[in-house]
Amino acid sequence: MSDPRLLELSDVGVTFRAKGGSGKKKLEALRHLNLDIASRELLVVVGESGSGKTTLGRVIAGLQRPTKGTMRFRGKDLAKADHGEFLSYRRAVQMVHQDPYTSLNPALTIEQTLIAGLKRWNKGMTREGASLRAADLLSLVGLSGKNHLQKYPHQLSGGQRQRVAIARAISINPELIVLDEPVSMIDASLRIDILDMLLEIKQKLGTTYLFITHDVALAKYFSEKASGGRMVVLYQGSVMELGDTETLVAAPANPYMMALIASTPGSRTESVTWSTKLASSQEDEVQGCRFFPRCIYAQEVCHATEPPLVSVGPDHLSACHFSGKLPLRPAQPAPAPAG
Ligand code: SF4
Repeated sequence: MSDPRLLELSDVGVTFRAKGGSGKKKLEALRHLNLDIASRELLVVVGESGSGKTTLGRVIAGLQRPTKGTMRFRGKDLAKADHGEFLSYRRAVQMVHQDPYTSLNPALTIEQTLIAGLKRWNKGMTREGASLRAADLLSLVGLSGKNHLQKYPHQLSGGQRQRVAIARAISINPELIVLDEPVSMIDASLRIDILDMLLEIKQKLGTTYLFITHDVALAKYFSEKASGGRMVVLYQGSVMELGDTETLVAAPANPYMMALIASTPGSRTESVTWSTKLASSQEDEVQGCRFFPRCIYAQEVCHATEPPLVSVGPDHLSACHFSGKLPLRPAQPAPAPAG
């Protein structure tokens, strides 16, 4: 991984009180998470619904405080940051949310939305200066032309709204952008255009991306176009596998990553076995490996002991008692995303 480290998470955990019942039951959304993000890196977070990937994005964006563990930004422990330092962090890390239909204020024009953000973080900026900058930002996200500035969110398509949300995120020159499933609610035919635009922006501005997705094919496409990047695979709040995206997609070491690839629509890899297993499994509480109830390779030891995250190759970690020992064929590469 390239230096310098921008963000370091050490043993980070997030626990919520589960809804219903006595209120005493707790839900661990993130467990013992250790993760570094380097400046200008592309780190993809992959996992199913409930894996903790959005919670991780919110923690990194400063929208959710970790219940335990340490987060350091450029070496500074954020738990010890004063109000001003934490505000600077909130400025340095922006988040683009999944739903472009609720992320913009319906009562404001696009120009008013962008100007509000610009003036909030740039106290000396004039309205004229902010207006010019808003037009530049729209052009950067492929929405050139003055008429877009005067429109309200309801007058834009989902793809155009997400472009505005991205313009708002980059308007204050963040160092890191958390992209939480940024194209999952957008028409399939427009997804590739938006991903390509995000990559152009990354190249132009040198921004670090944390790209959250449930879609291995999208993750593969995005990483290939970016000429590399790492992937972290989450399952029930725990890291199952971490390494460079190309390796994880072509030759995963962890049965859960293999299952994710095999259950991608269009995959030719043992899809019936894995897909059936994924679809029919129950989210039982387990004391050993969290994937135990769903894993076709599970043994006694998996139920009794949680596997540690260990090195299985250069910069490649996997949490499985049998990583590198399973008689598994490497998974086929994930197919290209739709659109
Ligand atoms: S530790 Fe066991 S249950 Fe967990 S992924 Fe590995 S083989 Fe499957």
